[in-house]
Amino acid sequence: MDDTSKHERFSNFCSLLETLQKKTGRSTKLFQKDIIQRYFNKWKLYGGSLFPVIRLLLPHIDKKRLNYRIKEKTLSKIYVNVLCLPPESPDGRTLINWRIPGKAKMKTVGDFASVLYGVLLKRSTFTGKSILTIADINEKLDLLNQAESFEQQKDCIRSFYTTLTPLEQKWIVRIILKDLKIGLTENSILNIYHPDALNMFNVCSDLYEVVESLNDSSKRIEIEGLSVFHPFQPMLCERIPINSCLKILNTNVFYIENKLDGERIQLHMKDGEFQYWSRKATQYTNAYGSNKNEGTLTPFIYDVFNPSIDECILDGEMLVYDPNIDDFLPFGSLKTAILDQSDEKMKRRPCFVIFDVLYINGKCLINQPMVNRVKLLPEIMKEKYGYIMFHKREEGKTTSDIIKALEKVIELHGEGLVIKDPNSNYELGTRSKKWIKIKPEYVNSLCDELDVLIVGGYYGNGYRRGRISHFLCAVLKEKIENENNYDKNEDIYNDNDNEIKDNNNNNIDDNGKSNNNLPHFVSFCKFGSGYSLDELESLSKEKNGNWKPLDPKNIPSWLSLEKKDLPDVYILPDQSQIVQLKATEIVPSVSYSAGVTLRFPRFEKIREDKSYKDCLTLKELLQLQNLSSGR
Ligand code: ATP
Repeated sequence: MDDTSKHERFSNFCSLLETLQKKTGRSTKLFQKDIIQRYFNKWKLYGGSLFPVIRLLLPHIDKKRLNYRIKEKTLSKIYVNVLCLPPESPDGRTLINWRIPGKAKMKTVGDFASVLYGVLLKRSTFTGKSILTIADINEKLDLLNQAESFEQQKDCIRSFYTTLTPLEQKWIVRIILKDLKIGLTENSILNIYHPDALNMFNVCSDLYEVVESLNDSSKRIEIEGLSVFHPFQPMLCERIPINSCLKILNTNVFYIENKLDGERIQLHMKDGEFQYWSRKATQYTNAYGSNKNEGTLTPFIYDVFNPSIDECILDGEMLVYDPNIDDFLPFGSLKTAILDQSDEKMKRRPCFVIFDVLYINGKCLINQPMVNRVKLLPEIMKEKYGYIMFHKREEGKTTSDIIKALEKVIELHGEGLVIKDPNSNYELGTRSKKWIKIKPEYVNSLCDELDVLIVGGYYGNGYRRGRISHFLCAVLKEKIENENNYDKNEDIYNDNDNEIKDNNNNNIDDNGKSNNNLPHFVSFCKFGSGYSLDELESLSKEKNGNWKPLDPKNIPSWLSLEKKDLPDVYILPDQSQIVQLKATEIVPSVSYSAGVTLRFPRFEKIREDKSYKDCLTLKELLQLQNLSSGR
């Protein structure tokens, strides 16, 4: 059989990509599919496997060429070098600053391949089209994939530069970056190739195997279920507004699970041998361990399975557990956790939290309802705290059950929730409406962003212990028209029962400092999520010296607080910061002196440009509440 990849020019393939790129948008999907179908048909006419070209169309799922270890930053350095551009020259700067508006052309900014194309076009003397075939391109890409140093990578890119036109280089760069930007997913392209290709890919995640096994599109094959040591494409969640959840799920009872913030991992086990695969079918067995003698996890969990279980596949999330604080750490800390030299028992370590079981002893369970699948878990294995655990779930019936759970998750700094239909099958490779993800930031923002003042802090637990993890915010009781007003109208701020007076009847705080020139603030809301760790540090640590313990019997006179949930520490307005918060709603509340508070408050940013005098006022807040309730 002829090998078309040795004749078919890469330039033809690039023309196809150009056409596909121009035809993006829903209405043109059919047109795009038709073009690809005709290209495949033509290829089949000449003979040979389509894998050489399909892998270029779907570089992100081509496991034969894993990561090139090249991102835009390296590519820009290489091209500046290959083109002999001084980094300070206009084109050098354009390439290096490809992401920054103003440096690159507005139309292409943020898309490195297009920025590069603009630069190459001005410099290339290449006329016509290249003569390289698809086979040649694959050979060159293999070399780049194997390159071990910057110099080797540079040689490979130089060879593209000397043999390809600017337009062809734009596409080769997109292939290297594994994002063609043609608006077609693997689902569409695999379906065009063969009606069973997507199903097969979902159970094996192997593009080569799919393309080679299904080379005759007229021959249908029965796709068997999952099999051990073949990574499958996991079920994903759909994003749906809270209020529509019940309608979409259409069940009396649903499961509410916390959305864990680690890495999606599928664990395959057969006769004491283990494999770990990520959501994109990257193997992590080397890290976690293939048997009881190797890795950071397997040696601790190999014996948790019931002796009758020879093989199984489990779906879950890999987290990082710290036994010192009995809490999970941000997943980014896994690398340092693995290097932890402490005693084995106190070591930070990976911990696998299982939320589904998909295969046991030769039987694939994906067509069974979730309620039956998860019931099997305690029968096949036992939990080992801090190493391998079962994810907890609650049953919910109403929208208010979801809202309550979300409030709890926000309070605990969680990622969000996943609402699941207990009757649902496991839908491979699908973003399904049977699993609904709800994150605080998805809840429609009904009210505008609010600039409020941090006035108090609450110490945290777990890995936030010893640090302020929640902040109490307040609004100005009255607008500051004129800075001298505080002195003139001091009595309007003196409405706090707990205030103490100095000899001149001025307000003083616990360190004796006179506060009579501070405007009055009323407590309004508390936030505890939405900030990055860096911002948290700057909100709490930097101001460390300024935080003072709050004596419940001696509340600062400039602040009205409700007694129920007093903060551990407070901070004076002129030493504090204005923060911008976002929320879904302003709702009545007896817990805050403002009489209202925010539902689902999220921190957006610190307003370095504002002082406490620019804080939102109570009047403005109530106006906002009226406005948002009318929306
Ligand atoms: P996001 O970026 O919002 O995490 P995503 O695009 O990566 O979303 P989604 O389908 O939206 O993926 O969400 C599914 C991901 O959520 C899974 O890949 C998994 O890693 C994670 N996850 C965390 N907790 C759960 C859970 N309880 N059930 C299912 N998936 C969960």
